[in-house]
Amino acid sequence: MKHALITIGDYDILNQYEISFHGFRKEDAIKETIDEMWNRLMAPRGFALCDKKDLLKDLFTLICAEFETTYNEKIPITLREGYITKNRGHQSVRHNDTSRIFSTPNNVYIDLLMSSVLFDYAATSYLWARYADQEDIKSECFKQMFYNFDALCRKGMFANVEGSLHLFNLLNLNSENWELGFIGDLYWCMISFAVCHEVSHIYLRHNIPKDTTEAHMQEFQADQVGYEIYLSLMMKYKDSSEDKEYSVFREYLYAAPMILLLFYHNLFSMSY
Ligand SMILES: [Zn+2]
Repeated sequence: MKHALITIGDYDILNQYEISFHGFRKEDAIKETIDEMWNRLMAPRGFALCDKKDLLKDLFTLICAEFETTYNEKIPITLREGYITKNRGHQSVRHNDTSRIFSTPNNVYIDLLMSSVLFDYAATSYLWARYADQEDIKSECFKQMFYNFDALCRKGMFANVEGSLHLFNLLNLNSENWELGFIGDLYWCMISFAVCHEVSHIYLRHNIPKDTTEAHMQEFQADQVGYEIYLSLMMKYKDSSEDKEYSVFREYLYAAPMILLLFYHNLFSMSY
């Protein structure tokens, strides 16, 4: 039987297969329902999810290739997606108890919960900023943001159907098609920068830091190198046509990594 459970420290990383294998069928089913809802709502506007295309994997390959060219060295790195749990799949983990995107010398791990949280964050922040002077929309965004941090981050649970529906309705009623495209690109750029950061740790041969000073130094270095690679991808692909996976690297999204850092800032503030 296929069994790819990976344990790092106290945490178990489960791929989608093991999520159901370990009694996480409920969350799995919710994710499918959400994908369906998203398709129904957005397909008429030209934003259907494509089952055959795995954008994250495509971007990951692109980023790794950029590192290979820059460093003139090929390190084999595997992208691993899963859902971080405790107690071998039986207990959810608070978002801020552990990093949800991290790396080991030949792997980059991305938690499914993290990708779902970041999309919500990008969409809600955008609408909130756009309708800053409209009380009704602003308060809906506040509710969505609060829900996002409480249920998803604080409890480490996937969004339930009502939570996602609320966001979809907000987007459907208050955004133009080009804005949905913008939010999508912003989201992918945030994820891409996070991947650039993790691959930087690998190329810089960072080991487990011996103290906080070294840990901070490593994080700053990974941010710096990661941002340089992110910018070089942007300069290379900023004018590409819409149907290519790398068309997410639009020039005006040079500051997308700052939105990711803002997310972490909010996350840690909220946790206290
Ligand atoms: Zn790091």
